[in-house]
Amino acid sequence: MRAEDQKSQLHQQLIHADRLATIGQLAAGVAHELNEPLGSILGFAQLAKKCPELPSPAEQDIEKIVTASLYAREVIKKLMVFARQMPPRSTRVDLIQVVEDALYFLEAQCAKKDIEVVRELAPGMPEITADPAQLKQVLVNLVVNATQAMPHGGTLTVSTRSSGSSVFLDVKDTGIGMSKETLEKVFLPFFTTKDVNEGTGLGLAVVHGIVTSHGGSIDVESQVGQGTRFEIRLPLCGPEEAQTA
Ligand code: ADP
Ligand code: MG
Repeated sequence: MRAEDQKSQLHQQLIHADRLATIGQLAAGVAHELNEPLGSILGFAQLAKKCPELPSPAEQDIEKIVTASLYAREVIKKLMVFARQMPPRSTRVDLIQVVEDALYFLEAQCAKKDIEVVRELAPGMPEITADPAQLKQVLVNLVVNATQAMPHGGTLTVSTRSSGSSVFLDVKDTGIGMSKETLEKVFLPFFTTKDVNEGTGLGLAVVHGIVTSHGGSIDVESQVGQGTRFEIRLPLCGPEEAQTA
């Protein structure tokens, strides 16, 4: 019975992985098709803004077109990362440095929202082979979610540790938490419980894409009203070796 159980679990995981891959291909196609017309919108809007004697309301409207196009371009960039159109560019990385780099931008926002940031960074961590920019993106996405889950303040804990041939990165919050139904869908692209201008539902799909393309894995546990913890495991050796190992 246990073997049957494991088989069905594996089957579920495969279906999930397959669906993510299909959505990934679709996303890459859509992103590619949209990139071109978007480039024209942005380019011509920028040209139009340079017209002499442009009435000021028109200038303001054009400025809005430019801003919206830039935003759309960011969404497309995330889609492409998610669809793994951007393979990781690996170097030797000090994970603690990546954490500090990411928190540098986010800490001021946390302070404004009454969120205490706690670091539990194990000393003497081994370097890993990874793409530092992508790892930073992982942290930013997780921390932004955590802060959005703590609208009335709380504690954000970021911890790192190493064990065997892996390093672990945890991001924990004392926020609103998630129901079981939400928890099952968090990594699906475009799944969001937020308002249109608060979330695209791509944050965790991007995180999932980056972590798996590094040969790592991600776990999440959450209690409604208590908080959420994401645990990321990354192999020391990096993506290429992990794939051929
Ligand atoms: P977005 O943030 O744009 O909604 P994400 O992929 O980052 O998309 O997250 C998907 C959903 O997962 C969120 O809408 C939210 O419901 C849930 N979620 C993610 N992180 C947390 C968290 N730290 N606490 C509570 N809910 C979360
Ligand atoms: Mg998010």
